[in-house]
Amino acid sequence: MKFATKAIHAGIEPDPTTGAIMTPIFQTSTYVQAAPAHHKGYEYSRTHNPTRTVLQDNLAALENGKHGLCFSTGMGAIDAIAKLLNPGDEVVATDDLYGGTFRIFTKIFSKYGIKFHFVSMADVASVEQYVNKNTKMIWVETPTNPMLNIIDIKVMAELAKKYKALLVVDNTFASPYLQTPLALGADIVTHSLTKYISGHSDVVMGAIICNDDSLLERLLFIQNSCGATPGPMDCFLVLRGIKTLHLRMQRHCENGKIIAEFLRSHPKVDKVYWPGFTDHPNHDIAKAQMCGFGGMMSFKIKGNKMEDALMFLSRLKLFSLAESLGGVESLVGHPATMTHASIPKEQREKVGVSDSLLRLSVGVEDVEDLVEDLKNALN
Ligand SMILES: *Cc1c(COP(=O)(O)O)cnc(C)c1O
Repeated sequence: MKFATKAIHAGIEPDPTTGAIMTPIFQTSTYVQAAPAHHKGYEYSRTHNPTRTVLQDNLAALENGKHGLCFSTGMGAIDAIAKLLNPGDEVVATDDLYGGTFRIFTKIFSKYGIKFHFVSMADVASVEQYVNKNTKMIWVETPTNPMLNIIDIKVMAELAKKYKALLVVDNTFASPYLQTPLALGADIVTHSLTKYISGHSDVVMGAIICNDDSLLERLLFIQNSCGATPGPMDCFLVLRGIKTLHLRMQRHCENGKIIAEFLRSHPKVDKVYWPGFTDHPNHDIAKAQMCGFGGMMSFKIKGNKMEDALMFLSRLKLFSLAESLGGVESLVGHPATMTHASIPKEQREKVGVSDSLLRLSVGVEDVEDLVEDLKNALN
């Protein structure tokens, strides 16, 4: 099955009792057993819930993976993956990581004796310097947030294999429509479903997809023990969102290209970061491992002044100032004071998150209206 067909059908069967074509919301905490331990695969909804099972199977299919697990938030999924580690283990992660991931690594897991290295993953040699026999995970986000760097997943997968470490890819920015890391050698894919996959800014949820059966067993144990599982209503909303993921992503890509080119040609804009430009430093890797360049981009206003960035934000009418990304509506963010506020200033600036940097999540509105809005605010 191809992507759009999977988005609509994978894991989804009409309800056997009524024929309902849409997956029912199984709003139940427990399940009646015929006799002790004689049940239909469901005992208690922290462990399993039928609405969640359908979503998990659908997500696994979209990522070309075997197993899917859903969590109450993207951070819940990341927390579960990090709990695979033991004291003394080391993780090498990309240096412009999602702020929340940086925070949970440095403020929570480092307390338990796990060591994290944050490095630029532009080339394999600079990553390998930090890899040793204690390295248990290489953690990749690509495209990165908010600088839109591209990391070569295949190359990182080879490095991880060489050191018997797991390659984890946070695929939130690309979505499985643009990129499927398991096929490129990753061991674990994680998502904030909150973003492109649910796509309507009405739910917060996370997921893990993997192929290995023993890895699944360990993750299921963590999921059930720690309990960051989503409710059935939220699972239903994500399933509903996924049915148009391919259509939305196509429009995000089309609008993204037009906006990136518009910004680049504007005299008040300094630099635009978007992997679809042929002179983007990793354009070739993006072209090889993605099938589109998406609607995420960042740019700096000429002169690099914080007050110009704030003035620009106050003049926008269609782009809403908000955290998050990947919804149908266009959003703008100021990473230095918003998504990346929890990262120390020196660390932030080192990777390019300067005070005047702005990040756009280009939505699926009419692109002429979006261009007009940006033009007015810049002028
Ligand atoms: C939003 C986000 C997360 C965290 O997900 P939540 O659903 O907000 O908990 C993790 N990684 C990336 C890349 C994100 O954008």
